[in-house]
Amino acid sequence: MLKYLEAVSKIRGLASPFPVETVPLTSADNRVLARPVFADRDYPPFDRSAMDGIAIRLADYQQGAREFHIAETIFAGSEATVALEEGTCYRIMTGAPCPPSADAVVRNEDITYISSQQVRVQSEQVVPKQHIAQQGEDLTKGDRALAAPCRCDVSAIGTLAALGVNNVPVYANPSVAIVTTGNEVVDIGRQPNRFQIRNSNQYLLRSLCCRWGLPIGLCQHAPDDPAILRETLGQALDHHITIINGGVSAGDADYVPQVLADLGVETLFHKVLIKPGKPILVGTTPNGGIVFALPGNPLSCLVTFKLFVEEYLWCCYGFAHTRLKKAQLLNYRPKKTSLDEFFPVFREIHTDGYTWRPHHGSGDITAAVGCDGIGWHPQNRRDIKANEVISILSLSSF
Ligand code: AMP
Ligand code: MG
Repeated sequence: MLKYLEAVSKIRGLASPFPVETVPLTSADNRVLARPVFADRDYPPFDRSAMDGIAIRLADYQQGAREFHIAETIFAGSEATVALEEGTCYRIMTGAPCPPSADAVVRNEDITYISSQQVRVQSEQVVPKQHIAQQGEDLTKGDRALAAPCRCDVSAIGTLAALGVNNVPVYANPSVAIVTTGNEVVDIGRQPNRFQIRNSNQYLLRSLCCRWGLPIGLCQHAPDDPAILRETLGQALDHHITIINGGVSAGDADYVPQVLADLGVETLFHKVLIKPGKPILVGTTPNGGIVFALPGNPLSCLVTFKLFVEEYLWCCYGFAHTRLKKAQLLNYRPKKTSLDEFFPVFREIHTDGYTWRPHHGSGDITAAVGCDGIGWHPQNRRDIKANEVISILSLSSF
């Protein structure tokens, strides 16, 4: 049976880049940029005043001048018509171009008006180019502004807009099929009898897919009946990613592995030395898709999605760095098994570390409520001491 990291490296070996498509900037939120973006011109494109105030000749100030005659007012979006002469200044607004004849801006806070045409500089010190954002200081034309892959988060969206990228090259998101299984599992719109449970994992999986922007092409439930399973999975396997829930363990009604084999799915691995989620099966379909058959318990479903489905997506988007983040676990955690264990972690607002809390088992529907990530207790560690740094997978996708 594979260990966690061995299973992860098998998944990485399967990943290949998703196709690239172009979407309007207004639809690019949270998508993954597939091509680097370069500056179309210098940024700032001109020497720009960073403050409301006056623009002066530094030499005048250095020679002792403190009073200046206002030659002209320059607003953002317009330019000066005259060059500064000795003892003169511009009134200048934030965002306005600072003409070459001025080489320092003094803030309004540091000047007083003697008359509407005459100001006095109060500052003790004026340094060259102060409060002037210089042309090209952020980017020079042709510089790489955004590397790829890069998630189009809020600041990337702002930068793309600043660069005039209206059509954004992003990786196409793969379509997903979700198939839940189990005779005891009923749709949430129905009243379950005493021995039935609601199909919560369908919604859990929808929500997880939604965070990655994955379109869900098929979402169905199948009872533990090989013929019906075969029919449902037959349709599901047309999608790039098929996520199956339940029916993958060793019970008498766990038909998923056999049905997948009958449908030509080649097993990449079945069962991994992890807790929760040990029964997971990952395989490839005859037409190049990938199947993740996740165990049915809610926490197992969440953890195995985070560990394996997200690893696959991450690699297909071309991210090279690890998804794991370092974080401090504030409370002691013992471990009895020799498995890699995964558990919900909760961020403590006042200390910035994380804590874990016991639950009864992976069937608890509240085990992960309010958690910020999934912590990793490595297989070879008996216990984690209080305040040790561990690796976590953040609950947000990226
Ligand atoms: P299985 O992996 O099919 O053996 O199921 C393991 C446990 O997860 C059982 O207690 C199931 O009732 C439960 N379970 C299976 N499918 C779901 C589902 N879609 N939503 C919530 N719980 C489920
Ligand atoms: Mg089942």
